[in-house]
Amino acid sequence: MTLTLATTAQQAGYLLVNELFGPTFQGEGPSAGQRAAFLRLADCNLACAWCDSRHSWDWRRHDQAAETRRVTVETVAAQLLALGTDLVVITGGEPLLQAEAVTDLATLLRAAGRCIEVETNGTIPPPSQLTDLIERYNVSPKLRNAGLGSRPIDAAALTAFVTSGKAVFKFVACGADDAAQIAALQDAYGLHPVWVMPQATSPEEVVSGMRQLADTALEHSWNLTSRLHILLWGDQRGR
Ligand code: SF4
Repeated sequence: MTLTLATTAQQAGYLLVNELFGPTFQGEGPSAGQRAAFLRLADCNLACAWCDSRHSWDWRRHDQAAETRRVTVETVAAQLLALGTDLVVITGGEPLLQAEAVTDLATLLRAAGRCIEVETNGTIPPPSQLTDLIERYNVSPKLRNAGLGSRPIDAAALTAFVTSGKAVFKFVACGADDAAQIAALQDAYGLHPVWVMPQATSPEEVVSGMRQLADTALEHSWNLTSRLHILLWGDQRGR
């Protein structure tokens, strides 16, 4: 597996935040279209070639000091709750690099009645305490199209997500080779349900990518998701 240095030094009671925004809509997966507040945490343990969130982890291209701030869990919770959405999406970067503080945050959000989704690349096993608090892990294992080498999959972590009972598996897919990889992973790990999504950063690419994927998804009994935020606002940050 290709890993970048995971530089996120966890500090008890604090989260390393990249951006917090909303209300907007969850753009992808089972909850697409639902009003949501978003927390994007800083740093990632992968470096995908097509990553559209490089500002959260790529400190060679982006100014780390300008893009990150260390904020108490209580403050982050208050800011998310103030956005007044039923759903809070915790994304990254890779949020599970900060699993302890994310669990503390989820505790506060659940106590306030929020549903929580955690978006993860599936390479870090989820803590059971966090699993108990959240609605769903949106797990996005990376295929060869991410440019991470031939096996960007962590078997133990992926198995842990399957057994959590709270994971859906969402793949960025383009062509036939991607479909074959997804089918092989599904067979090997018992992934269910599977969602596929186009690699797209413009409305035109979303539509053409979905048209390319539609028949393949139906053949394999996979779900197909749009990228609603791209359709609505293009590649604009904070939407
Ligand atoms: S795992 Fe996600 S955030 Fe990390 S580099 Fe890949 S696409 Fe970007």
